[in-house]
Amino acid sequence: MRIDAVDFYYLAMPEVLDIGDGSQDALLVRVQAGEYVGWGECEAAPLVSIASLVCPMSHSACKPVRDSVLGQTLDDISDIYRIGALVRANSLDLLQAEHTLSGIDIALWDLLGKKLQAPVFQLLGYANAYPKLPYASQLFGDTPAQTLALAQQVRAAGFKAAKFGWGPYGLGSVSDDAAHVYAAREGLGADGILLIDAGTVWIDDVAKAQARLAALQACRVTWLEEPFVSGALKSYAALSQSAAPVKLAGGEGCHTFYMAQHMIDYAGLGYVQIDTGRIGGISIAHQVAQYAQRNNVTYVNHTFTSNLALSASLQPYAGIENDIICEYPVALKQLAWDMTHEHLLPDSAGLIHIPTGVGLGITPNLEGITPYVVDCDIQVAGKSVYRTPALRA
Ligand SMILES: [Mg+2]
Repeated sequence: MRIDAVDFYYLAMPEVLDIGDGSQDALLVRVQAGEYVGWGECEAAPLVSIASLVCPMSHSACKPVRDSVLGQTLDDISDIYRIGALVRANSLDLLQAEHTLSGIDIALWDLLGKKLQAPVFQLLGYANAYPKLPYASQLFGDTPAQTLALAQQVRAAGFKAAKFGWGPYGLGSVSDDAAHVYAAREGLGADGILLIDAGTVWIDDVAKAQARLAALQACRVTWLEEPFVSGALKSYAALSQSAAPVKLAGGEGCHTFYMAQHMIDYAGLGYVQIDTGRIGGISIAHQVAQYAQRNNVTYVNHTFTSNLALSASLQPYAGIENDIICEYPVALKQLAWDMTHEHLLPDSAGLIHIPTGVGLGITPNLEGITPYVVDCDIQVAGKSVYRTPALRA
């Protein structure tokens, strides 16, 4: 087979708010080879990724991603790795290239799964997909009372684990932040797994993070996520020395295998969180999951958009039984919910099951998507280099 079409669709809510919610827009990717179609999704601002798909060549290591994908042979999984390497070489200096490649790589795995009549996790070499324990992932309330109510809601909904992040956390005083963490613990109950996400708020300031440790330890928080930006390895390592029994989590910002490898090797992490839609797709995320396992760091998916992205995010560690916890967005915008026919819902024991259908086991709902398509026309010197393609199955 040859790759005949690579179509990108920019979807957005009517209004995109200035909040840490990644489900407000989406970049859906459709790849066609012969009679087969695969679907994927890129994390990050859609128009920037579309630009890196189609921009005119700037120099020999700065080519549009599309040029390394369209027309390529696609017969088995070695072709997916070959195409990924080609994109990384030809678009070396195009910083958005990994984001753009991610959605394409996911779609290629989905497509080959359909051709080979197998779920993606089997193509990755896993005999089984083990169920995952979802943590309800959401933002902090604006006040501790709101955080308490949110925690009570997820507990009432049956979640055994919950994560609160972003919002006001880290921006106010140490006691303000402590009040939110205590409220989350109270609402979740004594036996719930509580996770806190600082959303990189302290950049690289170890002292600011250390000042919050007492409340996190007293509330038996399992992990403190992203106290610092991804590259602040020394700050992570320093904080990890005094955080026990709280472990550090991070890695969602990694957009190459090597960034994730550095975090595993040097940041003192207990959990590495990888966004399949950013790091280069399922291929690279799977490589990180294997590396993490060899180095006794727990792999966790990072995802905050549709259930298509959720399924893609689970494949890289589907067969690692002990890495049981998974991110599960519970406050998706309507767009992200309407994007797919199937939805991954917790079973009666509160566990999420990775689809066993072919490919990703999730199909886009084209009718559901239609109202959110943002029509785009990108012109260079009067010539259109990108026009939103018609939605087709
Ligand atoms: Mg996070």
